[in-house]
Amino acid sequence: MIILVDMDDVIVDMHTAWVHAVNKAMGWNIKYGDLTSWEHTPENVWNSVLRIPGFFLGLDFVHGARSGLVDLGRMGHHIFVVSAPTVWEACRDKYHWVHAKLKVYNIIPGMHRLVLTRAKYIVKGDVLIDDNPENLESWGASNESGYCILYARPWNREYRKVFEARKNYRVVWSWDEIVDTIRDIAMERSKSA
Ligand SMILES: [Mg+2]
Repeated sequence: MIILVDMDDVIVDMHTAWVHAVNKAMGWNIKYGDLTSWEHTPENVWNSVLRIPGFFLGLDFVHGARSGLVDLGRMGHHIFVVSAPTVWEACRDKYHWVHAKLKVYNIIPGMHRLVLTRAKYIVKGDVLIDDNPENLESWGASNESGYCILYARPWNREYRKVFEARKNYRVVWSWDEIVDTIRDIAMERSKSA
């Protein structure tokens, strides 16, 4: 299957670094769990932190993401990283991050597997894994046989019950669950083929 995987807060732990940086820059004391809605800070605050040179380049893997991606590759799936940067500095950093952390370890075979677009719905695939409910809804609407996997985060909690009730939607809490879910979807597909 073609598996499309969002980058921020699915492959890389963006929000831990963002909370740290925004607290330092603004003198705030917000915590990761405080981020309960999608647009949780004014746009100028949001983007000013994202524009710190090298911010994206320094991000760590989400727990389990590296081994999870390796597992999906070994299962024979084709992985594409699909990311929606909001500032141009992020495009440069994301390119370098993918090259440094994914390509050289052969987790994905080449840079043609990185897609930078805010219109994720135009990218065709069998599965999209994302923490942004809006991306999943628009992608799901234009990929009717595709599966939408929501990575549960504090800012998408109001969508989880709704998504769990929908056909072809799944909600996961970890990379172990992502790998299990992809295995289930692949089995479902091979039975109906
Ligand atoms: Mg994301």
